[in-house]
Amino acid sequence: MSRNHHPNLWPPFTSITTTPPLEQVVRGEGAVLYRAEGPPLIDAISSWWVTLHGHAHPVVAEAIAEQAAKLEQVIFAEFTHPQAERLAERLAGRTGLERVFFSDNGSTAVEVALKTAVQWWHNRGEARQQLIAFDGAYHGDTFGAMAVGARSLFSEPFDPLLFPVTRIPWPHTHWNDEEVEPREQQALDALGLALRTPTAAVILEPLVQGAGGMRIVRPQFLQAVEQRVREAGSLLIADEVMAGFGRCGRLLASQRAGITPDLVALSKGLTAGFLPMGITLAKEAIFEEFLGTDPTKTLWHGHSFTANPLGCAAANASLDLLEVEPEQHEQFEQRHRSRLERLAQHPRVQRPRLCGTIAAFDLVTSGTQGYLNPAGKVLRRLVRDQGVLIRPLGDVVYLLPPLCISETQLDQCYEAISNGLEALPASDL
Ligand code: PMP
Repeated sequence: MSRNHHPNLWPPFTSITTTPPLEQVVRGEGAVLYRAEGPPLIDAISSWWVTLHGHAHPVVAEAIAEQAAKLEQVIFAEFTHPQAERLAERLAGRTGLERVFFSDNGSTAVEVALKTAVQWWHNRGEARQQLIAFDGAYHGDTFGAMAVGARSLFSEPFDPLLFPVTRIPWPHTHWNDEEVEPREQQALDALGLALRTPTAAVILEPLVQGAGGMRIVRPQFLQAVEQRVREAGSLLIADEVMAGFGRCGRLLASQRAGITPDLVALSKGLTAGFLPMGITLAKEAIFEEFLGTDPTKTLWHGHSFTANPLGCAAANASLDLLEVEPEQHEQFEQRHRSRLERLAQHPRVQRPRLCGTIAAFDLVTSGTQGYLNPAGKVLRRLVRDQGVLIRPLGDVVYLLPPLCISETQLDQCYEAISNGLEALPASDL
């Protein structure tokens, strides 16, 4: 490697002391990233789960360029614009959640959902402060999002400042799991008990917890959660920042799970990964409690870049692409299935699982389980040397490719992982 770490950059989630110098990427096209040095890389993780349709997709690039030449930004508390209106109408039509609140990223989309839920009760004159979330959840890195996320290495310095949250087990499952039902029942019992305390909202990542380790739950569990939330008269928030917008085979993961949350957070694939944007969808019944002449009822929340026209143009283009070829996301799971079945034969693969475009498994290792397990990092390097970008979460290995990935490229991803597993040292990892 001829480079050193750049003297002026501070990369996210990274200690430069323990990480090799970051490589420079100069171009992307489809599923492929081109580096300044070295051969091209297949981006098997959609660059942090955002690049839904592939890098530099011409339809999205053109939509942004066209919008940039017309209107790049306008104060959204005074004005609206055609791209925002079109996007809001389309999302409302496709999801049944009629109100669309814009922000800047996944964490802010979650913050808005949490604040909206808490203020909804406040506006109704009923103090409900309890929030319920699940073990292993990740909802973002701002304070509110961190508070509802699981306490971890990431949150540790801030733990004393995070508001209390009631935590419920997440009964995640995998292929051939015969013990899921009692675990689901245990979680539902814990939820039932927690809901005896007046609760503002329950927040969850529908179908798949992302950063928590691609941990998948069954739709029937989520339906049972919703039923209990409804019985308790509480609100349900779906954080679909990762799982939404086609990732799980439907526009919303909630739709596939058969649940209808009151609030839904979206980001990542929303703009096809071109621009940062967050959206919080809300049912009309939520919005109605913020109406009236009493100024304390207003949602006093906003961001400079709210409903940025370039972001909205990108999101409309991203939605166009999903709608033009719906089978691309609706049938992606079949493309993974036989490949994952074959890989699952490997002795270092356990708990294989699949949801839409997301295929995952846990490494069989003798080291510590979880995010600090070193085996994933070793595998990542071995796979990178074969031209494929993966980024295991500790001992959890996953593929989350862009929809445009070709059959040959997908084969290359699985083959690189399979070869990497062969080369993975047997001892101490
Ligand atoms: N929620 C979920 C489920 C996520 O996966 C993420 C990001 N990985 C976030 C929230 C936070 O999104 P952002 O990084 O855009 O703030």
